[in-house]
Amino acid sequence: MIKKHLIKKLIGITTFILAFVNSEHSYSQPLIPIDQWEGKTILLIGAHPDDDYQSHGTLALLNENNNNIFILTLTTGNVGTKDPEMSKNDLSKIRRQEQIDAMKVIGLAEEQYINLGYDDGRLEFADKEEIIEKIVYHIRKNKPDVLMSFDPGYNYQVWHKSDHRSAAYLVADAVRAAEWRLMYSGQIIHQNLNAYTVPEFLFYGGNIKDKNTEVNIAEYLDKKILAGSKYLSQWSSGWNKYLGSDIDKYPIGEKDSVFKRLKRRIKYHNDLPVERFRYYKGIPDGMGREKRD
Ligand SMILES: [Zn+2]
Repeated sequence: MIKKHLIKKLIGITTFILAFVNSEHSYSQPLIPIDQWEGKTILLIGAHPDDDYQSHGTLALLNENNNNIFILTLTTGNVGTKDPEMSKNDLSKIRRQEQIDAMKVIGLAEEQYINLGYDDGRLEFADKEEIIEKIVYHIRKNKPDVLMSFDPGYNYQVWHKSDHRSAAYLVADAVRAAEWRLMYSGQIIHQNLNAYTVPEFLFYGGNIKDKNTEVNIAEYLDKKILAGSKYLSQWSSGWNKYLGSDIDKYPIGEKDSVFKRLKRRIKYHNDLPVERFRYYKGIPDGMGREKRD
């Protein structure tokens, strides 16, 4: 009897905790579900040409629903290779083309791609203020309703590898700077821009426990995988020996293994393919923390 009573009590407590967690969870949800967003301007910022890949299902969906998408990449990706024959310049060109080809698959045009041209692997050593000023410029120019970027962290700074780490914090700092008219005021006085506050955020690449929203990408799964197959210098044997942008020119079985690998990377929830994000709505100052006393 005592045991039964205890179990009942435990179930009650667990239900209460789950309800509490759920209410917190739902509190963080977008007012309108992401798959119903229309007419929004969306700016995704990444460090390398392919960082947007993890959001390609969502981007394909948003594009189809008449949202206006821009992808801004901070570096050219010009050191990401183990091919001893590859030069930085060649890789820079190859990765630009891969990015454009991948974007085309999900319905985006070259005009929707911005690359700031920094060296791969060295964002931490680049001039921070110069990068932030450039990001601020693109935020003020494009006025995104939603900004997507590496998650800078929720309550604690989150670990990312070097360029991703830099990108997460540079973007967070740029978003904050963009809203103050006296910061980089030359853009406002001479370039016909205005101070701009980004209202909504979708953070990718953060801790799983911090993610609070997911998008069902079932209808866009094939497009995502096909787009992924364009990054041959990164996700094929081209990483070790680049043989061009035509997958059929690679060793026998290459095509199969690239597509299998991309399929293995897809995340599922209740048997549905999903992309997960941390959604945040509010002033940029609060993007990385809970409300404080
Ligand atoms: Zn990257």
